[in-house]
Amino acid sequence: MVAKKVSKTKTSPLKIELPKPEKVEAWGMNKYSLSSVLRPTTVEEIQSIFQNANLNGTKIALRGGGCSYGDASINSEGIVLDLTEFNKVLNFDTKTGIITVQSGARIKDLWETGIGKGFWPPVVSGTMMPTVGGALSMNIHGKNNFKVGTIGEHVKEFTFLTAKGEILKCSPKTNSDLFYSAISGFGMLGCFLTVQIKMKPIYSGKMRIFPVLVKNFDELFDYFEKEYKSSDYLVGWIDAFASGAAMGRGQVHKAVNLSEGEDSDFPDNCRLDKQHLPTRLFGIIPKKWMWILMRPFSFNLGMRLINFAKYVASILVNNKPYLQGHAEYAFLLDYVPNWKFVYKPGAMIQYQVFIPKETAKEAMKKIFSLGQSYGIINYLSVFKKHKPDPFLLTHAVDGFSMAMDFPVTKSNKQKLWDLCYAMDEIVLKAGGRFYFAKDSTLRKRVMESYFPKANLKKFYTLKKKYDPKGILQTDLYKRIFLTD
Ligand SMILES: Cc1cc2nc3c(=O)[nH]c(=O)nc-3n(C[C@H](O)[C@H](O)[C@H](O)COP(=O)(O)OP(=O)(O)OC[C@H]3O[C@@H](n4cnc5c(N)ncnc54)[C@H](O)[C@@H]3O)c2cc1C
Repeated sequence: MVAKKVSKTKTSPLKIELPKPEKVEAWGMNKYSLSSVLRPTTVEEIQSIFQNANLNGTKIALRGGGCSYGDASINSEGIVLDLTEFNKVLNFDTKTGIITVQSGARIKDLWETGIGKGFWPPVVSGTMMPTVGGALSMNIHGKNNFKVGTIGEHVKEFTFLTAKGEILKCSPKTNSDLFYSAISGFGMLGCFLTVQIKMKPIYSGKMRIFPVLVKNFDELFDYFEKEYKSSDYLVGWIDAFASGAAMGRGQVHKAVNLSEGEDSDFPDNCRLDKQHLPTRLFGIIPKKWMWILMRPFSFNLGMRLINFAKYVASILVNNKPYLQGHAEYAFLLDYVPNWKFVYKPGAMIQYQVFIPKETAKEAMKKIFSLGQSYGIINYLSVFKKHKPDPFLLTHAVDGFSMAMDFPVTKSNKQKLWDLCYAMDEIVLKAGGRFYFAKDSTLRKRVMESYFPKANLKKFYTLKKKYDPKGILQTDLYKRIFLTD
């Protein structure tokens, strides 16, 4: 397909003064680079930085909110282009729900703009801090992935600055190759500039939540299969410390949107002051201190106790539906700011696997057993249901995912990486996939084993076409694509 040019780069490259290098960290604190960070606020500045890099061979990592758990937006050998100040909401059509933003706008900006007018973003992550550009690059999924797919499926169009410097308009019909590869392209083909997303209508500031206890993996899978058709969102928390017949026990939260006319408080309960998460726990303890209170539990026995206590607490509320605000349900993890600090002075990784429905249950049992036999048990496991999508380097499958948070310490690091490599083999055998947004341990051989060869070939062709000088690179790209 011939690329349709919206405009051609006319700016001459400015002389760019590189600021003093600063620490740029993976969200899980497991890796960092010391890099000069540029924070452009205009398209011209981004173009100019790309032009300079093409002339002088500088390597650039694009960075949004820095919410990827591993090395997806850090760069040990070049500069980091932080797009969080390129963040305007440009337009919101309250009739159609179509919002147009600069790519550094965050998911927070989407929902805060939409909710008062009766719209909610179609797909959100467990935190509201990712930027739209970062979310598209990884093609994020939400707790409703089984129903609405990934965020890319709700993008009407975007403008894109290719690494070699052209600005192209892309939609499912225009420059469709680039549309389906830049979304999921983990920042390797160019930079999203402006993005149009269709928000979804809501008829209440709240959803009806059904908390349900599941006693093991069998009940967990049965519940998801039985309930997904009548759910808008489904997410399971699993106690990874439970073993034997109790392996896979946990609590599922099913959420259902209220229908038009069902809520007499609408739209009043969409006001931001009614949606925002409280800043104090029990009205007293500032939430920003909560991670300090959690820290004494940040070791195996403490986390075993917390997981057990959570399971017992879920017995008390089992099958008792309640109403909950959208932000509260969607962004539970934002309730405890900096909760990752409980892992300090160590760090954390998230290992998330996506496995087809036919093999998922057995593979997940094997994965949990393996962790237990290594004595490395993840502190938080989250279970979701997924469906495939049409993007080139998608992580989605027709099946299920398990996201597992592991503590990283000096003494467990080698063993933890060995465990991940061993779990990789279970996932590959089960026909599963991995997710660059969460990854810290994947190797080239494993990546090449799960992506279809044709998709990889196409990715390499597009990389050559849109980034012939190879200016876009991240530590993740080097680790998985360039290192044997
Ligand atoms: C607590 C927590 C919960 C999460 N929950 C979920 C979840 O439920 N579902 C899910 O799918 N993910 C989830 N994530 C992961 C997160 O949504 C992704 O990592 C997302 O990509 C982060 O966006 P970001 O703006 O922070 O981008 P970064 O992490 O900074 O970068 C991500 C990628 O985007 C590229 N990039 C950034 N900006 C641009 C741009 N303008 N143009 C082109 N490329 C760009 C970068 O080069 C990089 O490859 C979660 C993360 C956290 C920390």
